[in-house]
Amino acid sequence: MARILGGLAASHTPTIGFALDRGKQNDPVWAPIFENFAPLATWLAEKKPDAIVVIYNDHVTSFFFDHYSAFALGIGDLYQIADEGGGKRVLPPVPGHAALSQHIGASLMADEFDMSFFQGKSLDHGCTSPLSMLLPHETAWPVPIVPLQVGVLQFPIPSALRCWKLGRALRRAIESFPEDINVAILATGGLSHQVHGERAGFNNTAWDMEFLDLFEKDPERLTSLTIAEYARLGGVEGAEIIMWLVMRGALSPQVRKIHQSYYLPSVTAIATAIYEDLGEAPDAAERATMQAHIGHQLAGAESIPGSYPFTQARSVANFAVNQFLHGLTDPAARARFQAEPEAEMIAAGIAPAERALILQRDWQGMIRAGFNFFMLEKLGAVSGVSNPHIYAGMRGETLEDFLKTRNAPGALYNVSGGAPQPAGWQKD
Ligand code: FE
Repeated sequence: MARILGGLAASHTPTIGFALDRGKQNDPVWAPIFENFAPLATWLAEKKPDAIVVIYNDHVTSFFFDHYSAFALGIGDLYQIADEGGGKRVLPPVPGHAALSQHIGASLMADEFDMSFFQGKSLDHGCTSPLSMLLPHETAWPVPIVPLQVGVLQFPIPSALRCWKLGRALRRAIESFPEDINVAILATGGLSHQVHGERAGFNNTAWDMEFLDLFEKDPERLTSLTIAEYARLGGVEGAEIIMWLVMRGALSPQVRKIHQSYYLPSVTAIATAIYEDLGEAPDAAERATMQAHIGHQLAGAESIPGSYPFTQARSVANFAVNQFLHGLTDPAARARFQAEPEAEMIAAGIAPAERALILQRDWQGMIRAGFNFFMLEKLGAVSGVSNPHIYAGMRGETLEDFLKTRNAPGALYNVSGGAPQPAGWQKD
């Protein structure tokens, strides 16, 4: 079973990564940042967690306002470094603990947190600024992460209480993971700061101290504050500190604080802290009950004949090919694919076996391989093939035989727009 070692808290201001990348360790202005992060790095080096859950917010880099979600959990096995406008920081891609992520995702959903899930998105300074201070990373990172992105930059956002409750659920999720691993939880953000408007540069050290005290000893008091109260006390952007409550909610009520620091070099109050967990692990019966609860909704779904539920594991394993086919919704990509399908797929890194399935329009082969049906539907529209052709192909029937089973036996259709169908429309 997985065990929670403790929680780390750290600001994620970009100044941290800036200071590190420019070697400011001995510059008196920046040295306190390094001193404040060092105990956390030492703790991680000593405790050697097998995974770190990183709670952070993206700064509208990878998560834009076209689809803004509250709680987004990364489920992949690798995360690239984001370019936030001035080129990427020179950091290796960060490995993800996909199995733990997907277990946590299933557990949170079972506990009625309607999460969103991401993969193929890059990490911005909200995650990488503290991470690069905490872990060695010259050529590779020593430990995989589970990124949990909280959307705190377009209101409404989750309440402090909701973050706390998510943390409680996160504890149940981690402790029911069947593998014998140790997990640390890193909460990022804050403390007081505001970066927009006439109030830009606002700080409130008195409130920061009160927050740190309550956070350790009486965190539930912090769940009654509204977002507006957090914004008034610690700055509008400082309200991101509610993310820390996810970590605190996942820890035991009593914790052992072994480090705390505070430094205000510029605009953001930079705090770091370590809280060791003092909780009892659940016993085998409790874990089994939780695992049954997590698996309840999908129990038996995999054994329904002729059915391939599109799970996160299937999605992660086939992300590249599904992404390629999804890309055919772009007219320019579609035209390139129609002109030179093989070359386009090779350029996109699609594996030979998958290329063959696509070139042969082997609909059932694609489903078995883990392609999502709605990508097949797009490929059908690109190819001038009707949906009933695809259904017949998956069933191993001729179109004629399949249509005989329908109430509208002559109906051919697909998801193409109103333009005339390509020449292959009627083909088998
Ligand atoms: Fe932030």
